[in-house]
Amino acid sequence: MKFCSAAICLAALACIPPQPAARQDAGTFVRIIGTNDFHGGLEPRADSAGIRYGGGAYVAAAIRAAAAECAPRCEVLLLDGGDMFQGTPASNSAYGKPVVELFNELGYAAAALGNHEFDWGIDTLRARMRDARFSIMGANVRYADGRDVEWIPNDTIVVRGRARIGIIGLSTPQTPTTTRPQNVAHLRFVEPAPVVDAHARSLRARGATHVIVVGHVGGFCGSTCGGEVFDLARALTEPVDAIISGHSHSLLNTTVKGVPIVQARSSGRAIEVLDVPLSGPGARAEVRPVLTAQIQPDPAAAAIVASWTARVAGEFSQPVAVLSERLTRTGQQHALGNLIADAQRAAAGADVAVMNSGGIRADLAAGQITYGQIFEVQPFDNTLVRVTMRGADLRRYLQQIVARGRPNAHVSGASIVYSRDSAGAGRIDTLLVAGRPVDDAASYTVSMNDFMAAGGDGLGPPPAAIVEPLRILDRSALRDYLSRLPQPVNVPRTTRIRQAGQAP
Ligand SMILES: [Zn+2]
Repeated sequence: MKFCSAAICLAALACIPPQPAARQDAGTFVRIIGTNDFHGGLEPRADSAGIRYGGGAYVAAAIRAAAAECAPRCEVLLLDGGDMFQGTPASNSAYGKPVVELFNELGYAAAALGNHEFDWGIDTLRARMRDARFSIMGANVRYADGRDVEWIPNDTIVVRGRARIGIIGLSTPQTPTTTRPQNVAHLRFVEPAPVVDAHARSLRARGATHVIVVGHVGGFCGSTCGGEVFDLARALTEPVDAIISGHSHSLLNTTVKGVPIVQARSSGRAIEVLDVPLSGPGARAEVRPVLTAQIQPDPAAAAIVASWTARVAGEFSQPVAVLSERLTRTGQQHALGNLIADAQRAAAGADVAVMNSGGIRADLAAGQITYGQIFEVQPFDNTLVRVTMRGADLRRYLQQIVARGRPNAHVSGASIVYSRDSAGAGRIDTLLVAGRPVDDAASYTVSMNDFMAAGGDGLGPPPAAIVEPLRILDRSALRDYLSRLPQPVNVPRTTRIRQAGQAP
């Protein structure tokens, strides 16, 4: 852990210079400080209440404060749960380099290989792995024939005082449908639990005193906890000391079979601080919000952020439109999703548009919005395709959206009423296109993005369809559509995919 550079020591009162000799013997626990799903979040953002959070300089300050407050009683280990790069103009325009530079400065030891790390292809990912002074690991990634992927590290051992900490990295088995499918078509993302068991044994045989899993596998907790990370924890047979989770952008701070599981939301909104004793049980975990009003930005990190954001400021600060209200991604059907689907239908000149809800990555504030804000809503460089299909195929295609009883897409040009059976599966009762029932024999055009057209989110087109690439960037379609509408833009609030009995 790099605690501080000389420059930061001069500037930050909280900074404690490293004292290697004293620290060797004084440490009584390992403090793991973790982030996940940073998604290029170099600059702070505001939530719906206007509270500003995150940003590289503030996350850095929170990390350094957490490290300094336990020195010299602790050994510090900085880890990330994956999806570091994808999501903002400054990060994307340099393919994640700014985030690697920031994480190098902070002294990260290891990160999980997130699904979005594959978004720009294998060559770019490998270049970022070479830039990183920390391991980006995915122990459960294989070639199609089952061989281990030689360029993806599986585990590592880092020494912190008396502790030899074994770290195992994991990627989500959902990766093939949550990055560009063609980028990972030659890879398999296998069930993680047996992989962790095997590596935990191997790490202990190599002298590890602790085993930590840094996994881009997520989950949610309500009255009970569920999801990939919980399935993993329940299936493990080897002891591990903690699981640093990612991918679901959720707040997790719980235990399964005594193993702490933590996740700190996303985009630098929070960090997790997990204290693991050097010997014996009794780990303690905390998820701390990173609120810009409560912390002074870290100067070294601020300089890195400023140098990268300045490069894209001109292009992305252009005003595009004025919104009459804030658009959030709350609920299964929302106005922001409708608006994007409308924009993509207009750009493609199609009868219908379908937009996968998982591809809508940020809210939009009320008032004047810039191209940079639109970029964060649709950061993936997806382009639009126009798909021509028969009415009968269109009905079957749209049926996939409601099949699980929770629509995972937004539509334009169509109205869907569905009902759910006792098992929760959904089935379309009524389908209207342009206000009329669908004619099974007629031909319809459907606009979608190339991620979906390649099978992303399980929403690939039917086999008999004709797929026509349009070379229109999805966010350009949204920008152009918004700028053409009367200002301020009134948003389409109707519920276009609704359960029988629900108001339109
Ligand atoms: Zn992810």
